Amino acid sequence: MKFHSVGGFSEVGKNMLALELDKEAYIFDCGLYLPPIVELEEEKHTPSRLKEIGAFPNDSVISNIRKKVRGIFVGHAHLDHVGAVPYLERKYNADIFSTPFTNEVLNSIAKDNGVKMVNNRKPVMPNSHFNIGNTDVEFLHVTHSTLQSSIVVVHTDQGAVVYASDFKFDNFPVIGKKPNYARLKKIAEGGIHTLIVDSLYAHLEQKTPPEKIAREMLGDVMLNSQNEDGCIIVTTFSSHIARLKSIVDFGKQLDRKIIFLGRSLDKYVGAAARAKLIDFHKDIGIYTYKKDIKKILRKVSEKKNRYLLVCTGHQGEPGSVLVRMANGKLPYNFSHTDNVIFSSKTIPAPVNIMNRKALDRRLREKHARIFTDIHVSGHAAREDLRDLIKMLKPQNVIPAHGDMQKLASLAELCTEMGYKIGKTVHIMKDGQRLTL
Ligand SMILES: [Zn+2]
Repeated sequence: MKFHSVGGFSEVGKNMLALELDKEAYIFDCGLYLPPIVELEEEKHTPSRLKEIGAFPNDSVISNIRKKVRGIFVGHAHLDHVGAVPYLERKYNADIFSTPFTNEVLNSIAKDNGVKMVNNRKPVMPNSHFNIGNTDVEFLHVTHSTLQSSIVVVHTDQGAVVYASDFKFDNFPVIGKKPNYARLKKIAEGGIHTLIVDSLYAHLEQKTPPEKIAREMLGDVMLNSQNEDGCIIVTTFSSHIARLKSIVDFGKQLDRKIIFLGRSLDKYVGAAARAKLIDFHKDIGIYTYKKDIKKILRKVSEKKNRYLLVCTGHQGEPGSVLVRMANGKLPYNFSHTDNVIFSSKTIPAPVNIMNRKALDRRLREKHARIFTDIHVSGHAAREDLRDLIKMLKPQNVIPAHGDMQKLASLAELCTEMGYKIGKTVHIMKDGQRLTL
């Protein structure tokens, strides 16, 4: 079998891999590269502009197998895994498989950007499998920082191919179940040919803490450090539905009115509601249009201590609600009574670091209280990765989801476990082909 590393092997983002068998081929993920998109600021995201700035994986490297592609499997709903699907799917005559939540997000990305998709979308329940021709494919439930994430398994004549990007081993999830360890072990018994795996935190000598820890941290700050006269303003990843649920739960405990501000929050919360995975959307108000946001912020300003605001802007993105509030473009005056909670981590791309610095400076000038890093990661760290590899005992490992340094960290872990670089652990760059 052949592996084509299309994207996400020379950078963090635009993840895309193709598996080529004798008569057919499959694509895993098709995501966006986000840093240059952030730099577009409020400029319109037309397909040609996105292509020009390198936001799409360069799938011309698999144009020779285009006609063999029988399925596109999307593991989860993050934009760096699903975001390019609406733009590239038309080149393939293949159904698109994903869990119901991811499918809802995919549909809304296409709709919001006015892109008409041509292939069928096939929602797949977590922990279920289906056939494409004679090939059996499984979507195994795993935990991550968004809902209904999956490890995708393709059962071939030569053993299973397991695609685990992204995941964490969370034994205390806030929404949904623990990872399906039992089924992973069962698949391992049948023999795994190749594991393609998330290497983002392979260098971190940790087991990533569970989401429950982030919930406790958040509860501590929201319940015990609130100012009776001020507003609580929280920002987090819009796709992190479990985190949003915790924020809403504490907001209810505080008896504050809960207001969500921003389009991407609406997109992900709407998708989770349509997939019937949450009911907290009934307890909140969501505002997306400038006019409505202005109106509600005027109201909030009159009685700040009655409200909890959840808004976009955790990376200091220029068009986000929090940044526009801090820059005085929206009718809200920060003061020393306001608590601003970043339930997030700054993604270490230069553009994000710069944007966050600018936002923090603005907030400090206005004497708002800032709480940063009220967060735990959604990615497996080194010791989780070791557990996964030990559990699956794959014949081959292909590190994915990172630049050379991150891939090399995972490869080094594999060599500790007896794998040989170039023989059983394979470092690829974007646009390469590997025959195993
Ligand atoms: Zn992810």
